[in-house]
Amino acid sequence: MSSADLGLLCVPPELTLRDALLRMDQAGRGILLVVDSDGTLTRTLTDGDLRRAIINHAGDDFPLGQLPSVRSVTVNEDADAARVLHLMDHHQIDHVPVLDPRGRPIDMIFRRELSQRIWLSSPHLGDEETAFVEDAFKTNWIAPLGPHVNAFEAELAAHVGVGHAAAVSSGTAAIHLGLLLLGVKPGDTVFCSSLTFVGSCNPILYCGARPVFIDSEPATWNMSPDALERAFEWAKRENCLPACVILVNLYGQSADMDALIPICEKYGVPVLEDAAESLGAHYKGRSSGAFGRVAVYSFNGNKIITTSGGGMLVADDSDLVVRARKLSTQAREPAPHYEHVEVGFNYRMSNVLAGIGRGQLRVLDQRVEQRRRVFERYVEAFADFPQINWMPEPEGYRSTRWLTCFTLAGENASTKCRQVMNSLERHLIEARPVWKPMHLQKLFDNAPYFPHQPNNDISQKLFHSGICLPSGSNMSEPEQDRVIDHLRNVINTLEDHRASA
Ligand SMILES: *Cc1c(COP(=O)(O)O)cnc(C)c1O
Repeated sequence: MSSADLGLLCVPPELTLRDALLRMDQAGRGILLVVDSDGTLTRTLTDGDLRRAIINHAGDDFPLGQLPSVRSVTVNEDADAARVLHLMDHHQIDHVPVLDPRGRPIDMIFRRELSQRIWLSSPHLGDEETAFVEDAFKTNWIAPLGPHVNAFEAELAAHVGVGHAAAVSSGTAAIHLGLLLLGVKPGDTVFCSSLTFVGSCNPILYCGARPVFIDSEPATWNMSPDALERAFEWAKRENCLPACVILVNLYGQSADMDALIPICEKYGVPVLEDAAESLGAHYKGRSSGAFGRVAVYSFNGNKIITTSGGGMLVADDSDLVVRARKLSTQAREPAPHYEHVEVGFNYRMSNVLAGIGRGQLRVLDQRVEQRRRVFERYVEAFADFPQINWMPEPEGYRSTRWLTCFTLAGENASTKCRQVMNSLERHLIEARPVWKPMHLQKLFDNAPYFPHQPNNDISQKLFHSGICLPSGSNMSEPEQDRVIDHLRNVINTLEDHRASA
């Protein structure tokens, strides 16, 4: 809660029962916090406590400080919502004060807000998914493959303006197939954006290849052309030019294709575009995912549209897509018996899930508008917070704002971000740090890394100072207001602490 609202709940021990009753009425929360002159909490006082005290001490002038002492239930800043709820149930109470290490109240948690978690990004179904799934049941096309798979592929390819598409079981599977299509072999080098989800680069390891990570640039948070150029110069010198470059489009926004693709072309290296997070985005009028030799989308549960789990590989070259379909169904040769000459995978999407995907694709444009609206409401609500820097959207880019992300300016941003996220979590609001860059992961300890500029590691800075806010297209305005109110309060509290320190 805001410090003004919290201030209204705090009363001194000298206050009389009568005045406490007036204050209880005025604050309207059913609770007061009795605090000493040094600001530490001595006890909580519920309206029940107050009523009993008035009955026992008929005199209205009786001061609160002389009531029998009680041990009040409180939590510290590290308590999570589950623990708070457990305490509330155990003690049969509806509010718990949060105390700083010196015992001073800094926040209150009310049971009402713990009944409804606000998610970072939750699935949002439209009106047509059930009809497609029912059709799959009615026609008994429950098995993999079937008419919805073919239709989903054709409809998605048309939607993004790419020639062909192959529906598979996940975005990660699509990336794995993409690497194989581009000829990645054991021992090869593959370049990949460092600031991403591990699904982008785990498939490099599946192929037995060696990842080299490339930093972000501040203007897009996506791959830095300067870092990419230096990585290529190094690889040329070392005689290990990459078999392909995985360009990631982060948080619903395209990378700077006009700067990045010519660099790859200069070295004759194909691009695999990871558009898992950017379906529905545009770059200079073209769909995100229309730039790589091969591109992939994800329909995981948290993405802008979902099939509960699934992915799509797209390419203009039909030979590549035909081959992807073959590899994703155990690489069966065209023969009536089961004939095999190469390794295959069980990666195909099922007809039931493709039915969900067809329904979701019909509401994709709506979902983009809704997510952008969520972003705009955050921007309006924090217009007076200069320390908040939103992920930029340069001229000519159209982000889906899949997730609304910002960085906190100023000193100790990392500590502050952790405090912000802890505080939101206490109120059952899911916020996340920006992706931890791959070059900082133990899994990729020995992978070479090229920062944006020598001694200027952008992705690491974004990780340490960045937060992703709840951004679901199905978040109601009151839910978003709950996030906004808590975020304003916690950021103001951090600033107050700094001012008083
Ligand atoms: C989600 C995601 C993937 C993997 O997609 P799955 O469908 O979860 O396997 C790959 N890359 C990025 C950037 C993602 O966000």
